[in-house]
Amino acid sequence: MDTTCTHCHTPDPTGSTLCVPCTTTLTGQLTDLPRMYEALAEHLTPGSSSGQGRGGKGGPAPLPLRVDVLDLRGEFDTVCGWLAAVHDARHLRGPRLTGDTLTRLHTAVAGLLAHMPWIVATWPGAGDLAQEIGDLHRSAATVVDPDPRPRGRRIGHCQSIDTSGAICGAVLWLAPGEQVARCDWCSMAWPPTTWMQLRAWQTENADAA
Ligand SMILES: [Zn+2]
Ligand SMILES: [Zn+2]
Repeated sequence: MDTTCTHCHTPDPTGSTLCVPCTTTLTGQLTDLPRMYEALAEHLTPGSSSGQGRGGKGGPAPLPLRVDVLDLRGEFDTVCGWLAAVHDARHLRGPRLTGDTLTRLHTAVAGLLAHMPWIVATWPGAGDLAQEIGDLHRSAATVVDPDPRPRGRRIGHCQSIDTSGAICGAVLWLAPGEQVARCDWCSMAWPPTTWMQLRAWQTENADAA
């Protein structure tokens, strides 16, 4: 069955609702969210990240909060809403989301990642999920990650082979400061000693395709 990805609309031969590159992006973005939520806290007060604001008289005056950052942090609750939607679609009891916002966010991200194989294979909501998480990630990144190259170095396509004999094919990234390239899709680790072989397989499979 040939279908198109519900997010990027490229034809997807696997018949999934989300293609492999979109799934890789989505899982990466979800994994980033708790760290970004925490990092946003440091941007809540104007000047707190630019080293100014010291030297006032008469003790610490309350700094005004940045309303845009406050609103942005509030939007992270949509992640919990998405997990609830997945539970609903799968006829499961509602997810147990308790604790403070960060704890709930961790729970919701872990839950969505656990349901990811089902989400990308069949769920019609997958495209909207990818869209909303992508928007949230982009908005947060403009505040906490102004570096335009947060993903590191591209190592080509993952060559791990699953039990059916299919090559993974997801794009591998070497995160800044990391030694080992890890596949977001199949979680295969590629240390530098394997890169020569990886390159050889990539060339071989590109020729065959
Ligand atoms: Zn796609
Ligand atoms: Zn892989």
